[in-house]
Amino acid sequence: MSLKGATFLESVLQTLKRATELGGYPQEVYEILSRPQRIITVNIPVRMDNGKIQVFTGYRVQHNNALGPYKGGIRFHPEVTLEEDIALATVMTFKNALNGLPYGGGKGAVAVDYKKLSKRELEELSRGYARALAPFIGPETDIPAPDVGTDPQIMAWMVDEYSKIAGHNVPGVFTAKPVILWGNPVREYSTGFGVAVWAREAAKKLWGGLEGKTVAVQGFGNVGYWGAYWLEKMGARVVAVTDSKGGVYNPNGLNLTEVKAVKDKTGTVMNYDAPGTRKITNDEVLELPVDVLVPAALENVIHRGNANNIKAKLIVEGANGPTTADAEQILHKKGIWVLPDLAANAGGVVMSYLEWVENLQWYFWDEEETRNRLERILLDTFNRVMNRWNKLGTSQVTIREAAYVEAVDRIYNAMKVRGWI
Ligand code: GLU
Repeated sequence: MSLKGATFLESVLQTLKRATELGGYPQEVYEILSRPQRIITVNIPVRMDNGKIQVFTGYRVQHNNALGPYKGGIRFHPEVTLEEDIALATVMTFKNALNGLPYGGGKGAVAVDYKKLSKRELEELSRGYARALAPFIGPETDIPAPDVGTDPQIMAWMVDEYSKIAGHNVPGVFTAKPVILWGNPVREYSTGFGVAVWAREAAKKLWGGLEGKTVAVQGFGNVGYWGAYWLEKMGARVVAVTDSKGGVYNPNGLNLTEVKAVKDKTGTVMNYDAPGTRKITNDEVLELPVDVLVPAALENVIHRGNANNIKAKLIVEGANGPTTADAEQILHKKGIWVLPDLAANAGGVVMSYLEWVENLQWYFWDEEETRNRLERILLDTFNRVMNRWNKLGTSQVTIREAAYVEAVDRIYNAMKVRGWI
């Protein structure tokens, strides 16, 4: 236990335990799902621009494949640990199951401050990682994608490296690739789109809709930016955004296009300056007087030390694991809705699934058709989670617990018919 309370992995396992009990599943289900099936550690030597070799350590955690190939992103971040990667891989198993995808869960990570690498060094590292993992991944085995610190360019290098080893093009081994390399245009914004769809559906139940509701977003990477973009398109007013350095707040609303331009030009949204706008920290953004809060950066930012200060009535987890288990109990008692990661940020992996289906067929849908398919899957999950939550009792059970029961149900049934338990 850290000062903030449970670690990310402890929070995940606590919820899993509770979901196993709530669903009445045998104890073996917890025994199996509380550990990954396989952990791969790789050490990747990279010749740096200064001529010296630097060795980077990375992982791929293959958590469970009862429902299909392992699926989940690859994180490049200086502070990644194996424990964090296990937690992320575990959440992927539940996220994929919850959304009805034919996948198990996995997650990769490399301990690196990618912002300090040159483009060539980053390419070497990405290719080295794909090479090291080549025997363990593939379109029918394990399908990685981006996560924090990785993007379509990195997927392009990785799919190219893997294809060289295979001796032919293998589009379906990584998802969220550039459009020209068998990607789909929806994937760029799909996680943020899913965040907004979940927020909109919850807002209908809470307030009759999103119209005019104020939103604060922590994190202005792919998820935070596109989440803000779609929330605004759906009628909400985005009043605060931050990135890793800090951010800006304007109670009357921010001009997102201008904020994005400042971020792209100067590296941080903090340099955005407009009348009525003030600077805020990453702690402050969580405690602003807004209707909707979107933590879209890293885990454990909402913890027992600040949960009581949160004023939003609706929290939409763009990030994986931003709320600790103890914080969630506090929020739940206060009647705050937390739309959990495995549901609220699933737009990314659901879209990855559609891209993978396209890749396996070598056949592509247009943008509108793809987005409609994505939205249909997200709405189906939303309705199933709400039904399950109502059945289990909204005052006794959190939305996350209901979503976990819904997910574990599929995994349990798959493991049972396979004869694993
Ligand atoms: N990294 C994303 C997630 O946490 C997407 C994973 C994927 O597309 O496979 O869900």
